[in-house]
Formats: sequence, structure tokens, C-alpha cells
Amino acid sequence: MVTTPHRSVEVDRSMRSSGIVIEPNIPICQTDLPLDWYQEEFKPYAEEYLALPDRTPETVLPWMDRYIVPALDHFGDRVMLLAHYYMGGEIVKLVERYGGRVADSYALALEALRNPEKHVFVESAVHFMAETIALLKHDHQDVWITNPKSGCTMEALAKEEMLEPAFEDMLARYGDDLVVVCYMNTSGRIKAMAGKTNGAVCTSSNAGVIMKWARDSGKKILFVPDRHLGENSGRQVGFTSDDMFLWPGGWEGMRTSIARMAPTERDRLDKAGLVLWGSFCGVHTHFKPAHVAYWKERDHRVLVHPECTHEVVSMADGSGSTSYLWKEVMGAPAGTKIAVGTEGYFVRNAREQAARLGVEVVNLADVPDPSFPSVGCGCATMSRNDPPHLVAMLDLLRKGTPPELNRVLSGDAVDENTGFRERLDPASRDEIRRLAKKALERMIDLTEAAKTA
Ligand code: SF4
Repeated sequence: MVTTPHRSVEVDRSMRSSGIVIEPNIPICQTDLPLDWYQEEFKPYAEEYLALPDRTPETVLPWMDRYIVPALDHFGDRVMLLAHYYMGGEIVKLVERYGGRVADSYALALEALRNPEKHVFVESAVHFMAETIALLKHDHQDVWITNPKSGCTMEALAKEEMLEPAFEDMLARYGDDLVVVCYMNTSGRIKAMAGKTNGAVCTSSNAGVIMKWARDSGKKILFVPDRHLGENSGRQVGFTSDDMFLWPGGWEGMRTSIARMAPTERDRLDKAGLVLWGSFCGVHTHFKPAHVAYWKERDHRVLVHPECTHEVVSMADGSGSTSYLWKEVMGAPAGTKIAVGTEGYFVRNAREQAARLGVEVVNLADVPDPSFPSVGCGCATMSRNDPPHLVAMLDLLRKGTPPELNRVLSGDAVDENTGFRERLDPASRDEIRRLAKKALERMIDLTEAAKTA
């Protein structure tokens, strides 16, 4: 039970809590966004927030309660707030405080599907995640995102216009022998390409299962967009360097064509069982083998996310999704020292929570050695959700005047820089949804089957 000045809020803890708590006197947000980063309808809320004297929970929470508690009262059981473990700026703590759910990509994707009694989903995470929820939702449900510009630089190097020429090129050459496996960090339009080839979506928690299924099909796999997750999960199921072909990511990928390849290059592509689209995560590729060596020499267990390079993953003591990393840290015996190689805000949250259990957590890239200066970083694009975004979204929904820009439909493409959104006509939206849903449902079937195997 959370008590506010206005009422008591019953917190639904049917999903395992992240355990993240809000500390008295500790700042709620480490940085404020400038006013002109907010969309017009959100500015009045941002102005109020920016005028607050400080960022302590004692100041920020009563201001948020003023708007959020009436909104939650208004919607009652019909609303669900969602956030990803990865979100920075304590937004996960706030979402959880107001009874929302914090989860990894796989669990988030299924929230609308598995909760038909909820009608309104408010997601404080990245756009591709909100769109995935919208792809799987029931018709009577609506999905809203608190900041449509919350994006992913890895996904930004695999936009439809970049990938489509390569996809069509490979489809023309390999036909039914091509299967696309795409990571959750893609738009619905890319997921639809996977559906078109009877392929599947994957997350970092089930990439091994999905990759094994694709390898067993005997088809040529195009893995999109993360070359490192593709390589790490590919090696897990037996692909070697000789079996893999790296197709450039971003605009270079769009300009690459099979017809213009040198014969030896084309031959390598023909022989490859796994084609990796060359995008990557700037946050995870920051970790180097020297970081792993540094902390291992100092008796730390090293745990990393599979978006890190294969060199880093192969040196680490363990590798897995955000929920794997969180469980490993929270389940470690007191006195354990762990270096975690993943997104900086996640590691900071894990460090704070683990300290209560007597477990020491450091960011793998935080090497306190002047001869080897390095620092772990958070994901700047993902962390664009803050208290004013959540407050404004909920208050405007309660008033019945939510900006259409924040509604998420299948096939929506948002530019992370400008916030401009391209929305497809209804028939194209339906087609994207049909194909992308097929690839998502295959992921769900394979993942659930693996759990009971
Ligand atoms: S941490 Fe990397 S993969 Fe995750 S949203 Fe940010 S850029 Fe994308």
C-alpha cells in the first residue's frame, strides 16, 4: 500500500517486483530536460516541474500525485503503467510506485495480450517496445507512449528504408531459403519482414532458442539489427566465423547490393548460414576485453549483456538478458563482488539495490585507474522519459485530450531527433500488424515451448 496525501494506492504485485525503492532525500532525476524538448501539450507540466525547488521525493512526489492519483482514480483497473528495467532517471521507480509494472522486453511485449481487462496502456520506455505491445494488443485496447522520441540508436541503423533494399536483394536470390530473425529492437515494419519469411522475433532472453530453431530449419538466416547479439547467439548454436557474413548496417547497408559484390564476397555470402546486419549498440560496445580482465583480476564476477562484442562475452563469467543480470545480482550471496557490463542506469539501480544485500556492484567500464580512464554510460535516447512526461500523459488522458502523437499504432515510424511520426494508411497498418504479429507469435510459441521442454 502506498499512501499519498490524497489517497491510498493499492499496488498490484502479481508480477515479481523489481525491488527498486525510492530513497528519501535522494534526487529523483539526475538531469532535467530543457523545456523545448517537450511537445507543446506537455510544456505546462514541464514548466511546473522545472520550477520546483529541488528534485527530492519529498518535493517531486506530491507534485506528481496531484495529477497521477486523480488519473489512476479515473481509470481504475482499466489502466496499466509500464516501464522497462533499462529506463533511466528513476522513471522505473516512479512507474512502480504508482502500481505499474517494470519488466524486460519479452514480458512487456505480452502485457496487453495477457491483460485483456486493461484498456489503456501507458508506456514509459522506447517506441519500438510500445509498438510491439500495440502489435499484440486486443482491438479494444489503446497504447500510449509518454515520449515518442524515446528511441534506440541500434534500431536507428536499421530503419525500413535502409534494410528493405538488402532484404529484397536477398529474397530475390535465396527465395524461400531465407528466414529473417529480428531482435525486439526493431520497428513493426522490420518485424513484418521476419513475418514475410515465416521468421521470428527474439529478445536477449530467448535469442538462443530462436536462433536454434532458425538453424534447424536449414535456411539462410538474416539476423537484424544487432551484429553482436546475432554473433553471440549464433555461436551458441554452433555457427563459426566461416558461417557468418557481415552485411553493413545503416545507409551503407542500403547501398550494398549482391550484384555489385566482388565474386569472392558473393561466394562467401552464398555459403554463409548466418547473415548479420551490421548495426550495434553504442552503449554495449563500449565494454572492452581490458575491462573484463581488470575486474576479474580483482576477484569480481563479470556479467555482461549479449549486445557486447563476442570477445567480451567469451571472457565474461556469464551473459544474458536484463532479467538474467538482475536475478544474478539480487540472488548473489552477501560479500559477492560483481562487475556488470550493460546500460549505465540499470547498473546504477542494481548497485543501489544490491548494496542492501551486502553485494558490491560496479559498472564494468568504471575503471578507477588513471592510466586506464573509462566510465560506463547510460543510454541517452532511451532515457527521455521523466516525471513531466508521465504526469502530462496521464493527466491529458484523464481529461480526454491526449495528443495523437503519443498514441502508438502498428507501422508508426518516429524520427528520434525531430519527433516527426509517419503513420501508415489503415490497410498498410493492418498488413504490417498481420506479418509482424506472425513473427512475434512464433517467438512466443518457441519461447513457451522451450520453458516446458
Ligand atoms: S542501450 Fe543500446 S540497444 Fe538498448 S535502447 Fe539504448 S541504444 Fe538501443
